[in-house]
Order: sequence, then C-alpha cells, then structure tokens
Amino acid sequence: MKKKTIRDIELRGERVLMRVDFNVPLDKNLNITDDTRIRASLPTINYALEKGAKLILMSHLGRPKGKVIQSMSLGPVAKRLSQLLGIEAKMADDCIGQKVKRQVDTLKEGEVLLLENLRFHPEEEKSDEKFAQALANLGEIYVNDAFGTAHRAHASTEGVANFLPSVAGLLMEKEIEYLGKVLENPARPFVAILGGAKVSDKIGVIENLLDKVDSLLIGGAMAYTFLRAKGKEMGDSLVEEDKMDMAKDLLERVEEKGVPFLLPVDHVIANEFSEEAQVKTADEDVIPSGWRGMDVGEETIVQFSQALQGAKTVLWNGPLGVFEMAPFSNGTEKIAKVLAELKAITIVGGGDSVAAISRLGLSGQFTHISTGGGASLEFLEGKVLPGIAVLADV
Ligand code: ADP
Ligand code: MG
Repeated sequence: MKKKTIRDIELRGERVLMRVDFNVPLDKNLNITDDTRIRASLPTINYALEKGAKLILMSHLGRPKGKVIQSMSLGPVAKRLSQLLGIEAKMADDCIGQKVKRQVDTLKEGEVLLLENLRFHPEEEKSDEKFAQALANLGEIYVNDAFGTAHRAHASTEGVANFLPSVAGLLMEKEIEYLGKVLENPARPFVAILGGAKVSDKIGVIENLLDKVDSLLIGGAMAYTFLRAKGKEMGDSLVEEDKMDMAKDLLERVEEKGVPFLLPVDHVIANEFSEEAQVKTADEDVIPSGWRGMDVGEETIVQFSQALQGAKTVLWNGPLGVFEMAPFSNGTEKIAKVLAELKAITIVGGGDSVAAISRLGLSGQFTHISTGGGASLEFLEGKVLPGIAVLADV
C-alpha cells in the first residue's frame, strides 16, 4: 500500500492545499489545552514551506454540525501555529468563496493561510461534490496529512482528491508505514495487547489480528466479557451481555487457530466505580457480586510480561484497567514500562492508551504513536480508509 508523498513532487511556487488535523481541545476562554495535534503536523508543514510551497491549510474543529459557531473557529489555532512556526499563519474567515480565493492569490512562496473550520459547511461531511470542487479550486496539489480523519469520506478528506493530484503528508506516511507493516509483514514474534472499555469497539481488530499475531493479550473491561463467555462469574464488572455470542464465537476461532490468547488470571476489584472504593484482589474464576474488576492483578502482569519477552513487534491498543484512577492504574503502568524497555517495534494506538503513556513520560520510548483513534482501529480491522485510498499510488 505504498502511497506517493509530498516528497515525490515538486512544490516550489505551487498552491498546496493540505488537510491537517487541528481538532484540538479548547477551554472556556478558547485557550488550546493540548497542542499535540498542531505539533504533529509541523514536519509536513515545515517541509512544504522550505520547498517554497504557497501553503493552504484546512481542518475541522469540534462538531459545529454545518453551522458557523464562533467558539469553534480555528482562530486560536492560527495564533498557536504562528508561534510554533515563527512566521504568521494568516487566518481566512471561511474555507471557500471569492474572498478566500483572493487571499490565496496573494500568497507568496513560503507563506501559510489557514482556512476556517470546514464543518461550518454541512457539505463537508456530506462530501458534496461542488463543495469539494470549490476547495480544490484553491490549490494545485492536494496533501492529506490528517490520518485521524482518514476513515471519514468527507469533502476535504476524499472528495477533493477527485480534482487534484493527491499525495500523503509525512505524518500520514508514517502511520501507513507502521500500521501497514504490522498487518502485512511484522517482525516476529508479533504480540498484540488489547484492552479498554468495550469488546464491541475492538472485536473487528481482534478478528483481523487473529490471522497475523503470534499471541494476543487481553486486558481492560473487555476481558470480563470473554471470561463471562467462558462461564466465569464476573460480579458487577463491565460485561457486555449482548456481545456474549460474539465473544463465544471468537473464543472458538481462537481455539481452532491455536493462537495463544491470554486473559487475566487475577484482578484488582472494587466495591464501586470510584477512587475511594474498597479495593481487593480476586483470582480468575470469581469476582463476587457487589464487586467489579478495575485492573489486572500482579500475576497477570507477570504472565503478560513473560509473553512479551522476545517479541519483535508489539501493538498495544487500550488500557488494561481504569488507569485514570490511581488505585487501578498499576497494570497499564507496568505494561507500559515493560514495552518501553523492550527491544522491539512498539506501536501504540487509541486516545486513552496514548494519554496513559504520555502521562508516564514514556512517549519517546515507543517506536510509533498513532495519532488516530477511530482511524487506527479501522485500519487495524483491515478496512481501506477512504482518505488513504484516494491518494496516488507509488
Ligand atoms: P483507547 O482510547 O486507548 O482505544 P478505549 O477507549 O477502548 O481505549 O478504553 C479506555 C477506557 O477503558 C478508559 O477510560 C478506561 O478507564 C476503561 N477501562 C479499562 N479497564 C476498565 C475496567 N476494568 N472497567 C471499566 N473501564 C475500564
Ligand atoms: Mg478511548
């Protein structure tokens, strides 16, 4: 799935229309509380500017649902971006129209214009053809660097590519390279660790990975649905009763394939979903009623750590417990530390897992941290993402 990238084309003097993911969190006073996504696009932006592009950036922010909502303006992003770039990122007051076109026409090589929130127009999420064409008219080359929205077929992620030569940005390239390698040709042994809240979110990923991994380690709340499907008592743990058949089918397939599928053998349990709860440990078989599983236990951590030794590729998606609460963050933290030390290709996806390792200050010790939550899950399910499919092949 090799795609042409921004490095494969001539940019000097060209109007480069680049889709980025500037969907950053803002506080009440419209201050950006986390600028990770802006920083993540800097390599591609700087590359384009150094090569003499006239750069037009576009993004969505929040969910304005097709209406102009001033609190979801990209204005604060333009300010932050200007600080990070050390040159002014000009701000347009719309993303299409005559006025924007005139602003684009005055852009010189090495200058940047940020278009206003794409989702102020309902046509964006409908991938309306005329709207996509109006966007495309602003540029001569289309670059998609917004991996986080690549699973959406919107005007700015898919439609626009029908009208312009289309290539991947550097961030997009990195995502495709690492996640693609995991699915196509991982260094072995290849171990996947899946956790998080729901089986239903990740069943597609488990199914797709079953044919590819050397072993699967399951933690988080989703483990309880599997343990319940095996007939164990899980007390008040978060079990998805309506996913029981799916879980049973999957366990049968695991059995047939003979892939090691490790579920927790002990649990940290609590009498309520709270940091102040009473806490104790339980073995694999029974979580008493009135109690719920909140984290994997020490013996599970030992077994998971052993399963990880010698791995050459590890994919991790989903925390192993309720890591947001101190008494239940042990499993997630210990496994994160094991991964950070491992001599292997380590790839982390999922908003919460990424937040967990970033809080531990371990981000720098992973090979690749995927920026797309939903997009990385769909990629790992083996789906073709529309925002990638439209980019030119090498
Ligand atoms: P990611 O964003 O990394 O893909 P998810 O969104 O699937 O992860 O799941 C993260 C959430 O799962 C966290 O909020 C965490 O508290 C929750 N979680 C993990 N283990 C449990 C558990 N045992 N019980 C309830 N919630 C859990
Ligand atoms: Mg999440």
